[in-house]
Amino acid sequence: MRQSLVVGNWKMNGSIQSNQSLLDNFKQNIKKVQNAQVSVCAPFVYLQQISELLKGTVIAWGAQDISNQKPGAFTGEVAGSMLVDFNCQYVIIGHSERRNLYGESDELVAEKFAMAQSVKLIPILCVGELLEQREAGETENVVKRQLDAIINLQGVASLANSVIAYEPVWAIGTGKTATPQQAQNVHTFIRSLIAKKEAGIAKQLQILYGGSVKANNAVELFAMPDIDGGLIGGASLKADEFLTICQAAR
Ligand code: PEP
Repeated sequence: MRQSLVVGNWKMNGSIQSNQSLLDNFKQNIKKVQNAQVSVCAPFVYLQQISELLKGTVIAWGAQDISNQKPGAFTGEVAGSMLVDFNCQYVIIGHSERRNLYGESDELVAEKFAMAQSVKLIPILCVGELLEQREAGETENVVKRQLDAIINLQGVASLANSVIAYEPVWAIGTGKTATPQQAQNVHTFIRSLIAKKEAGIAKQLQILYGGSVKANNAVELFAMPDIDGGLIGGASLKADEFLTICQAAR
C-alpha cells in the first residue's frame, strides 16, 4: 500500500514574513490531514527559517534544486551536503522550469538525482512532455527518455528511494489540468515501464501528479489508482487551498 504524498513547490516565491504566516496557518490545521505525508520545497535562502518553523511537526521540507557537484569552486551552486545541514528530506530534480528555462539536460538531471541520493536526500524527479510533444503523440517517448537517463546512470534500484512527479509542461502554472484519465494513463505507463525491470519497486513507487492542481480538482485526480498525491505549485502558497488539496489525498 503506497502512502500518499503532497509536496508544495513554492518556486521563487515567499518572504520571511509571508513564509511565517503561511506555515503558522498550515501548522495549526495540519491535524486535519489524515491520509498524506506533506512536504514543502522552498527557495534555498529560506531553508533555515523553514527548518526552524517546521521542526517537530509532521510536515517535511526540501529544496527545489541541487548541484550535481560536491562542494568546491562552483559559484552560485548549492551542494547536497548543504541541504542536509538544514535537515531537508526531499529535493525536486529536473523540474520543467529547470529543464526548459535553464537548459538542464536529461544527463545533468540524472547526475543531480545521483548526488541527492549520495547524501540521502529523496529526489522528487519531475518528468513530462511539452504541448507540442503531446500533440505529436510523443508523450510516452519523452517520459521514457527522461526516466531512462536515471536508470542508465544509477540503475533501476535507485528508483526505490525516490519519488516521481509526472508534470505535463502544458499544465504547469497555466490553469489547464490534465484530465484524471490523461494523468492516470501516463502514471500507468511509468509504473509499467519500471515494472518490466523491477516489479517490486514499481509497486511501491510514489508517482505524483503536478500541473494546476487546485482545491477544486484534487479529489478527482487523487482518486485515480496510480496517482499517489501531487506536486503543487501556485496553490501551495495559499494555506487554506493547500490544506484542502492535502485533505483530498487518499
Ligand atoms: C509545479 O510547480 O510543479 C506545478 C505543478 O505548478 P502549478 O501547480 O502552479 O501548475
